Amino acid sequence: MTTSSPETDLGRTRRARRIGRALAETHPDAHCELDHSNALELAVATILSAQCTDKKVNEVTPKLFARYRTAADYAGADRAELEELIRPTGFYRNKTSSLINLGRALCDRYDGEVPGRLTDLVTLPGIGRKTANVILGNAFGVPGITVDTHFQRLVQRWKLTSETDPVKIEHAVGALFPKRDWTMLSHRIIFHGRRVCHARKPACGACTLVKLCPSYGTGPTDPALAAKLLKGPRARDLAAAVGIDPDLVPQQAVVAEVP
Ligand code: SF4
Repeated sequence: MTTSSPETDLGRTRRARRIGRALAETHPDAHCELDHSNALELAVATILSAQCTDKKVNEVTPKLFARYRTAADYAGADRAELEELIRPTGFYRNKTSSLINLGRALCDRYDGEVPGRLTDLVTLPGIGRKTANVILGNAFGVPGITVDTHFQRLVQRWKLTSETDPVKIEHAVGALFPKRDWTMLSHRIIFHGRRVCHARKPACGACTLVKLCPSYGTGPTDPALAAKLLKGPRARDLAAAVGIDPDLVPQQAVVAEVP
């Protein structure tokens, strides 16, 4: 992109849409990385994901979901047993309280069901706006933008907004894209943040957004160096997509846990 004259609103919208299309091609595998089969499981997994990798949460949840199937199960949980099951996710005492309180609130106020409206979801223990949007988008099919740390960093690098408050970012970025695309856009941005545009050393030289990103050069631009920074099972495909020899991506990167 040129930096000679200030970007117009229309120019920014067009660039944002191009970024959205490039991300769709770059990350065809983007999805909610927390394993779940219903809204309650997703709510629980999202609570567990605070300060923890999705991979670790996914290791814990099969046993948890088999043991606790309903909101009433969480409401009546034996605290020590629940703590033990979720201990690997960290902050397990607080998270146990959130899960028990969530179960109770769902039973008391919503007949044990997870409600499908943002205004209701945010009143539940352990569920903030970010979590509520994840649940709406992925369990109810209601378009939602999930402003997590990756989303926030990337849209700022792309200069799509200068807002710093997550709710304002959500509205500002939402206005640039059709509503129907919000949920998948969020997944793709988060995928890009985890696999390419890292917080400390983004893989600029191996990024598909080079021509659209005003922060190109924040990380190494040398393709060989950048290739080593790609992460995840598709790291070699990501390298190939920008014309880099996939063999420059170390095996370690392919199996690395994404943050
Ligand atoms: S060019 Fe660099 S800063 Fe821009 S999106 Fe790609 S990795 Fe991130």
